Amino acid sequence: MRFRLAIALLVASICIPAAVRAQAPNPPIREITQIKDNVYRFRNNFHFSVFAVTPVGIIATDPINADAAKWLKAELAKRFNVPVKFVVYSHDHSDHSSGGEVFADTATIVAHENAKKVIIGEKRPTAVPQVTYSDAMTIELGGTVVELIYVGKNHSDNMTVMRFPAERVLYAVDFIPVKTVAFRDFPDAYLDEWIESIRRVELMDFDILVPGHGQIGAKSDATDHRVYLETLRAEVLKLAREGKSLDEIKQMVKLPQYASWGGYKQMYELNVEGMYRMVQANRRGN
Ligand SMILES: [Zn+2]
Repeated sequence: MRFRLAIALLVASICIPAAVRAQAPNPPIREITQIKDNVYRFRNNFHFSVFAVTPVGIIATDPINADAAKWLKAELAKRFNVPVKFVVYSHDHSDHSSGGEVFADTATIVAHENAKKVIIGEKRPTAVPQVTYSDAMTIELGGTVVELIYVGKNHSDNMTVMRFPAERVLYAVDFIPVKTVAFRDFPDAYLDEWIESIRRVELMDFDILVPGHGQIGAKSDATDHRVYLETLRAEVLKLAREGKSLDEIKQMVKLPQYASWGGYKQMYELNVEGMYRMVQANRRGN
């Protein structure tokens, strides 16, 4: 079993770029890796969450989906023998928040207040949050602290950034990918607030940036992604003001300095399309 998993991981890392999430491997690639001290990362194919283990229980984050959550729950019981006491959703999107009901027997489910509204409204397949907050909230369990911080709208209107101050780890999903372009054409995005929300993250105290997809990074990766968004916005806006069409802009704005980033081949043109759509939505005819 261990051997088969190792082979699957090897094949996946060679064949599947991190940013391509269309064909999920079957059986799924699941693993637990240590980030720092008692803070760990849980992988289910191309989705990642984090959890912290304390002597009296576990603080978990995105369950990802029901099957993944069941696997995680069994692994946690086997490895650590303490119950999951909290589950914190990063945001409402079902590819991260699904499966919360798996932990509902022992855990309090927490999310931003806007996430609860969307989870109910969109009938996300997960447990409805029992505890919500608006600006910030601190969870302390068995000597471990995690701060939940709302940094404004970015990707969705209900993103929770999770900071583990003692471990200097920050978990931020979908709006600060590490050395990777943005997802497709910016679905569910609030561009100006997004850039501002990364600035807020840059002011926080942490060393390790853990995204919901792809590789782990450092604090400087947050700045790099903010500069990417600002550069793309400036280029697209300039050409839109000159009356260039979307097709022309796609030909003219290549930003080759980002060609080595994850997802550039698959998603960069979609990033230009989404940026054009957002830029145009805020321009007046005259
Ligand atoms: Zn999302």
